[in-house]
Amino acid sequence: MSGIRPTGMVHLGNYYGAIRNYVRMQDEFECYFMIADLHSLTTHPDTRELKNNVKRVLAENIACGLDPDKATFYCQSHVRETGELYLYLNMLAYKGELEKTVTFKDKARQHPENVNAGLLTYPVLQTADIIMHRASLVPVGKDQEQHLEMARNFVVRFNHRYGEIFPEPHAFNYNQELVKVPGLDGSGKMSKSENGMSTLYFSDNDELIRKKVMKAKTDSGPTTPYSSKPDYIENIFMLMKLVSQADVIEKYEQDFNNCTIRYGDMKKQLAEDMINFMAPIRSKTSDILANEDYLVEMMKKGAAKANESAKKTMELVREALGLNYF
Ligand code: ADP
Repeated sequence: MSGIRPTGMVHLGNYYGAIRNYVRMQDEFECYFMIADLHSLTTHPDTRELKNNVKRVLAENIACGLDPDKATFYCQSHVRETGELYLYLNMLAYKGELEKTVTFKDKARQHPENVNAGLLTYPVLQTADIIMHRASLVPVGKDQEQHLEMARNFVVRFNHRYGEIFPEPHAFNYNQELVKVPGLDGSGKMSKSENGMSTLYFSDNDELIRKKVMKAKTDSGPTTPYSSKPDYIENIFMLMKLVSQADVIEKYEQDFNNCTIRYGDMKKQLAEDMINFMAPIRSKTSDILANEDYLVEMMKKGAAKANESAKKTMELVREALGLNYF
């Protein structure tokens, strides 16, 4: 089970940290993937753009390979039981631990005028989403590691107090290590809502992709053979590993190690390989978005499957809590 917020365009960080794993997992597990429209309200209270954003993120995920016939792909607000489970879990979540959450502190700093209770309890709502399907594997990027640790704490407390209902959820990545795709400026992370120039969005046209990649931070190159790579150079290699052929990567590794690397050439190559990877997803997204009926049908189907799973879980939960009076 995993989710993605409809707060902007899907980017390479989302793909690398999350969607790529969704696409592989859908063939191996029973999967629930969700557009987290309720979570987006914690930081984006203005909902005028919400419907369009939800549709775009749905389409972008499908264009990346998510198959709504294999996985249950749905919109968070279509599972009304989530509000109920969130309420029960809130009684098991302590103010002190919520206030210490890194993402809460970051967001409170970014939006001091809107430090709302929903933002504070963001990891509680996330836990409700995950355990609603009694999921144990949660494909996410590294930025979500602490939230998953909190989810396990809430689950352990619930199970201890009311009975063993839920498996403990763990962050999951096929390559073992959780992934963080940093911004092209070498700092922070690629993100839907921050610094557009250092994030590669699937909606970017070819020219914009070239421009962003060419602007990525580099330096004058190593002077000692086999030196270690600074973070921002490591990042360019990492992006190359995602989209370029093995022999191309090997060539630049060698050039780096013998100090003959020309970052200008490397970035040109990266930009073209990136375009080859991203442009087909962009055009597939446009095709899907043009088919409104398909999107609506797909959302209804996803909602029905997610509701069925939620209903079963909530029967167990109410019974465990002793809220089944008759
Ligand atoms: P964003 O931070 O861009 O708004 P979300 O919070 O909606 O993205 O996260 C959706 C998924 O994408 C999560 O699993 C998150 O861990 C992953 N993700 C987001 N940014 C990155 C990144 N730069 N690198 C790796 N994974 C990321």
